[in-house]
Amino acid sequence: TMRESYSSENDSGFKCLNPQLRPIVIVGGHGQLGQLFQRMFELSGYQVRILGRDDWHRADEILHDAGMVVVSVPIHMTEAIIAKLGQLPEDCILTDLTSVKSGPLQAMLEVHSGPVVGLHPMFGPDIPSLAKQVVVYCDGRNPESYQWLLEQIQIWGASLNRISAIEHDQGMTLIQALRHFTSFVYGVHLAEEDPKIDQLMSLSSPIYRLELAMVGRLFAQDAQLYADIIMSAPQNLAMIKRFHQRFGEAIEMLEHQDKAAFKQAFSQVEHWFGDYAQHFLVESQGLLRQANDSTRR
Ligand code: NAD
Repeated sequence: TMRESYSSENDSGFKCLNPQLRPIVIVGGHGQLGQLFQRMFELSGYQVRILGRDDWHRADEILHDAGMVVVSVPIHMTEAIIAKLGQLPEDCILTDLTSVKSGPLQAMLEVHSGPVVGLHPMFGPDIPSLAKQVVVYCDGRNPESYQWLLEQIQIWGASLNRISAIEHDQGMTLIQALRHFTSFVYGVHLAEEDPKIDQLMSLSSPIYRLELAMVGRLFAQDAQLYADIIMSAPQNLAMIKRFHQRFGEAIEMLEHQDKAAFKQAFSQVEHWFGDYAQHFLVESQGLLRQANDSTRR
């Protein structure tokens, strides 16, 4: 067909790996990530239906012949909404895009006896294409029936990483919860200190500008999403508290003007990074060159 002959450009269409699939239903599909996946599925020739917040009175009609159901709703509502999906066709694939994995995966396995897989796209809705992006997945049940989905995501350009839900959530404690929280606190600090942001920018080297951008971009996004991610697991709070404690210990070093202790801690960290320290220096030089070329207004 025309569609299959298209190249893998995301504005012109992708090869469809499962043309026999019955309609895909995206629960919460009017949301940011849901819309992105709707577009990707439609560009790949699948029929997509949305089950939005106000559509539950006709849920049976929307879901009765679903070939796959993708849950993409606010994190704090995810498990309750999954629990309402008890009447899916036996062979329907049930999946979700939630940033946390253990709870939703467990809920999907409990409510549905057919194929289940958890997905976590490691990107937001603002990406131009899926090329070089990462999608993490957690096997749930009957993996043979959703291999096409994993391959379809790869056709979109993303790379896949398989992990257990528990390991995923542990990793996200550092990669998401702590990182977003430190950005949040830095933003709060900036807002309270209230420097002139124009002046900060004019004094900034590209690396500070990049750092400011990494913090500032958080506040252009959804507060509920980040509150949910940061507060999604007790281990997140424990990690943040350990960070806070180390922050305090480091301040004591300053109070004692203890440069020897500073240098000792410094070399301990350098040792922990190992070869990556040098590698990151080189990699960041490349990123900064790009930032320098593209962020000058
Ligand atoms: P969003 O708020 O933009 O979208 C959620 C959608 O769910 C909205 O359209 C909302 O109306 C709908 N909804 C609310 N209650 C509903 C209900 N009872 N039934 C059906 N739909 C309902 O949120 P989002 O950013 O698209 O996030 C959705 C999921 O994607 C979350 O699980 C989040 O963890 C995950 N995710 C988001 C990002 C991101 O950067 N936005 C990145 C990775 C993963």
